[in-house]
Order: sequence, then C-alpha cells, then structure tokens
Amino acid sequence: MKYKNKQFFIENLSAEKIAKKFGTPAYVYSYEKIRNNILNFKKNFNTINPLICFSVKSNSNLKILNLINKFNLGADVVSKGELTIALKAKIKPDKIVFSGVGKTLDELKFAINKKILLINTESENEIVEIEKIARKNNRKVNIGIRFNPDTDAKTLKNISTGKKENKFGLTKNKFLEILDKYKHSKFINIICLSVHIGSQITNHVPYKNMLLIINKLIEKSKYNFEYIDLGGGMGIQYEKNSNKLNYIKYKNLIKSFLKKNNSKIIFEPGRSIVGDAGYLISKIIYIKSTNSKNFVILDSAMNDLLRPALYGAKHRILPAKLNKKKILKKHEFVGPICETTDKFLKVPKYQKLNQGDTVIICDVGAYGMVLSSNYNMRPKPAEILVNKDLAKVIKKRQKLSSII
Ligand SMILES: *Cc1c(COP(=O)(O)O)cnc(C)c1O
Repeated sequence: MKYKNKQFFIENLSAEKIAKKFGTPAYVYSYEKIRNNILNFKKNFNTINPLICFSVKSNSNLKILNLINKFNLGADVVSKGELTIALKAKIKPDKIVFSGVGKTLDELKFAINKKILLINTESENEIVEIEKIARKNNRKVNIGIRFNPDTDAKTLKNISTGKKENKFGLTKNKFLEILDKYKHSKFINIICLSVHIGSQITNHVPYKNMLLIINKLIEKSKYNFEYIDLGGGMGIQYEKNSNKLNYIKYKNLIKSFLKKNNSKIIFEPGRSIVGDAGYLISKIIYIKSTNSKNFVILDSAMNDLLRPALYGAKHRILPAKLNKKKILKKHEFVGPICETTDKFLKVPKYQKLNQGDTVIICDVGAYGMVLSSNYNMRPKPAEILVNKDLAKVIKKRQKLSSII
C-alpha cells in the first residue's frame, strides 16, 4: 500500500501536504509511475520492437507529453489540437499517427503539411480528400486504413469500438475494395492496416480473435503492409483483485502473427501508460447522514472527473489518513453538481470520516482531466506532477475570471 504512518503518500509527499499546498480538487501525477509504466510496456514487448505511439486523448497535459517524448514514445492524435500539442512537446512527426472518423479538411492539410508518419483513414471519402490535397501539393501521402474486425472487446459497452455496429473503421469487403482502388495511386501510399477494438481490455482473447481476423484479411488482400497498427486498449486494475491483461500471452500471439507477416507493429496505448499514475485529491465539504446511508459530498464533481457519470466507471476512493473506526453504514461519494449522475462510488462501509477530510480518487491519470468541463461554472482543477520530494504545478487551476 501507499500508506506510511497511516498517511497516504504519492512518491515522497503525503496527499494531505499536497492538498494543503495546492488546494483541492487537484489532479496529481506520479513521475515514477509513468516512467515505470513506460519501461514495463517496452520490456513486455521488446522482442517485437514496436513503435509505441502514446494516445494523447488519454492525457494531453504538455508536461506529461514532454515525459512521453523523453522516454522516446511517439503519439497517436485525434485532432489538430492534439497534433499541435504533441509537436509542441517535441514529439517527432515521423512518430505520430493521426486517427479518427471525422478529420476536417483543415486538419488533414495541417497533418500532411507536418509530414507525420501516417494518417489512419476510416472512410473512402476521407481518402478522396487526402488524395486531392496530395495531388495539389504533388506529394505522396502515407495512410493507414482502419479495419473494423467485428470483434467483441469484452469491455464496457460504451468504450467498445471494434464491433460492426460501431462507427469506427471499415468492414472487410469495403477494406479490400478501397485497397484495390488506391494501392496504385500516385498520391497515396497505403503503408498500414490499423485496428483498435476498444479500451480497458483485460483479457487476451479479444486480441487473439482480432489477430486471427486481420491475418485472414491480409492473406486475402495479398498486400504487404509496412505497418500493422494494433491500437491500444490494454486495461489496468481499477479494483484490487480485478482481472489483469496477460501481456506475455498477447506478445506471443503477436509474435506468431509476425511469423506470417513481415510488418512493424504500432501500439497506441493511453490508459496503460498514465491511468494508474494519476490521483484526484479532494476534500469533503459535508457529510449528509440519512437513515440508509451517508452521502459524502466532495469538492470534486463530474465536471472534474466524468468517467463514473459517463460510463459507470468505478474508481477507488481512499482516505488521506487511516483510522481504525469502521462505520458500518452505506457511504455514497458524490459531487456538488445538480445532476443525479454526479456520484463517484457507493461502498457498504467506510472508516469514520469528517467534514474537511482529504480523500484520494485513484487511477484517474487517463480520461480524467481531458474529459473535464466547466459545467455549473466550475473552474477546472490544477494539475501537479510529483517527482520524489518535488511537486510542480503543470497546469494552473483555472481562474473563474477566465471562464466569464
Ligand atoms: C482511445 C484510443 C486509443 C487509446 O486507448 P487506451 O485504451 O487508452 O489504450 C488508441 N487508439 C485509438 C484509435 C483510440 O481511439
């Protein structure tokens, strides 16, 4: 556990101390955790030597992206904004892939102009537009084509992306038709087949099915893709004893896939790099006791952390200071926003809490701050990076005046 003398620590600083110094709510990231996650990810896959493109949509803080660059990862971006900030973090264009179903003309022109590694296209209309821009510039533009393998990722329904009813990618027939039509284009260079079947995947079987289906498609296409982009989706443990993705099994599946296909693998991990490295430090405003439960009303809300309200995600909530007094009553941790879904977690019992106590919402490094909003005219929280004894503000708390 991360407790020392009953105090919750992030690296060498207690959550209490951080809360006092920077105020709450505050997103706090551990440098060491991010570094270890990156090193572990690399180690898990070192025998297949992939290009690892961090999914910027999971966390787009510039200082975090600086770290991503420092450890030599590339980036997977889904908008002009993300591409701009990835370049600002000095991530090399030839390590950047651009994904997404609805890139505008302006975004395509921008990406082509920056000479990124490839644009992962998701429709024929998009390829038509790219070809027009490329012809105008007398250039050959590298693209990938996203395939929808109709594979069940066995994750939350709303973060599943690889089923045929989802808007992402192209079906097998359309994929083959487009490949045939554009493989001899003077302005388009199809170098990649890409897939991304969903997020928070904790079992290797969906990946196994995905690889089998891709393999069949490649056989049928008789085309040699320089890159196979397998997307991200590797899950993390949001609860203590929840399932864990078996990286060795996944790696071995890819290894045997590569025996038949001479391609370079691209990964686009987001959550598995930053998810468990982030904490949302909050304070208890009030505890409202009813006959059936205690409502623990926090100063952070769904505008700060949307995942529970958006798709029923669960994040553990830990006290900054442990005590031995158990209260055998239901506790529901909620935010102050005027929405019934503004609630974080329900537990059957909890230690004794008091107004003003600090609590820590765990594993919020991915899809946390990036999904925050100003709903209820609430300024966005501060972001802090902790490295050993040092805590640095990496994004200031938003000022109320800046949203008026
Ligand atoms: C969201 C997304 C990712 C990252 O997914 P994680 O589950 O955070 O690893 C990668 N690729 C694409 C295309 C995505 O949309």
